[in-house]
Amino acid sequence: MVKDTKLYDVLGVSPTAGDSEIKKAYRKSALKYHPDKNPTEEGAEKFKEVSAAYEILSDSEKREIYDQFGEEGLNGGGPGGPGGFGGFGGFGDDIFSQFFGGAGAGAGRPRGPQRGRDIKHEIAATLEELYKGRTAKLALNKQILCKTCEGRGGKKGAVKKCSSCNGQGVKFVTRQMGPMIQRFQAECDVCSGTGDIIDPKDRCKTCNAKKVTNERKILEVHIEPGMKDGQNIVFKGEADQAPDVIPGDVIFVVAQKPHKHFQRSGDDLVYEAEIDLLTAIAGGEFALEHVSGDWLKVSILPGEVISPGSKKVIEGKGMPIPKYGGHGNLIVHFTVKFPQKHFADEDSLKKLEEILPPRKKISIPANATVDDCVLSEYDPSKSSARRGGQSYDSDDEDQQGGEGVQCASQ
Ligand SMILES: [Zn+2]
Ligand SMILES: [Zn+2]
Repeated sequence: MVKDTKLYDVLGVSPTAGDSEIKKAYRKSALKYHPDKNPTEEGAEKFKEVSAAYEILSDSEKREIYDQFGEEGLNGGGPGGPGGFGGFGGFGDDIFSQFFGGAGAGAGRPRGPQRGRDIKHEIAATLEELYKGRTAKLALNKQILCKTCEGRGGKKGAVKKCSSCNGQGVKFVTRQMGPMIQRFQAECDVCSGTGDIIDPKDRCKTCNAKKVTNERKILEVHIEPGMKDGQNIVFKGEADQAPDVIPGDVIFVVAQKPHKHFQRSGDDLVYEAEIDLLTAIAGGEFALEHVSGDWLKVSILPGEVISPGSKKVIEGKGMPIPKYGGHGNLIVHFTVKFPQKHFADEDSLKKLEEILPPRKKISIPANATVDDCVLSEYDPSKSSARRGGQSYDSDDEDQQGGEGVQCASQ
């Protein structure tokens, strides 16, 4: 839909004209009104008009903006743009241009089409969903240009651009005070700042001449396998529509939910595995449910010996790697569960001496004073760091006073 056909009319072509047709039309008009051939003032004015129209319509980008937003869309482009073309002039602007050179230099002049605001939403995803990918259908309530009046606010042809402000909704008032020229921007009193004049009977009933209505739209959000926390999924131009505004984007930000067993490190997964002491030193196996939904059975070879806190890697069992393909690794972080107190009698324990590496010999300097100590249970609430603190209960100390590390001088 072309908002304004004026530039096409200047060249005498239809808004659907192709590039070559526009070029031909321009050539014809330019030759006709060229100052060499037509030295009248009217001719010069026409030549300027035709050239300015061609400058816009021959540039696909400018033409698109013009088709969508009319001349206002192109105004404010600065001295290089089509500044001032098409009746933005007026007395005030002429004075202003003379003093400051160029119509685009005015502060506060409405600049071309504004870009609307982006809408950001968080989309939560479990690690399983980020592994396999997921499509979520989300309803978006947004403002769109009224479909009844196509964003005009009234019947076709009934909406007139306010001539007082040239559809800008604001007017510039230029005042000369001695050598100073002051320029003000004020809401147009003729159209109350809307930029339009609509006869009340022609006002669009659907949008009440507001030009916009609300719409509920379903967006299909594709979470690709391997997407990361904080990554954006962008729907270009799906944010609120408004007249003469380029709609912003709807952006979904992936938020990874915490997982009970796995943590993520880039494309790698980290799993905390608890194995028993026997498996750690004599081999065995453990199993885990992977985020893919499969179970992994992992063998620990006899003699491999897994120390508490050590890390091993299962290759290719991490997260899918987007674009490049393949998978990251699964990093297994081990904790070793030691047996309970008194799990074996002393005779059985002696057997361990035959198998395990010998005990480390202690070394104390010969001239040192040595205290003999035994260990007792540790209770954090009785730790020395809290001693003297308010929560310390002195009754407990009396009852269990003997529970500290006991030492006796040798
Ligand atoms: Zn409407
Ligand atoms: Zn107005």
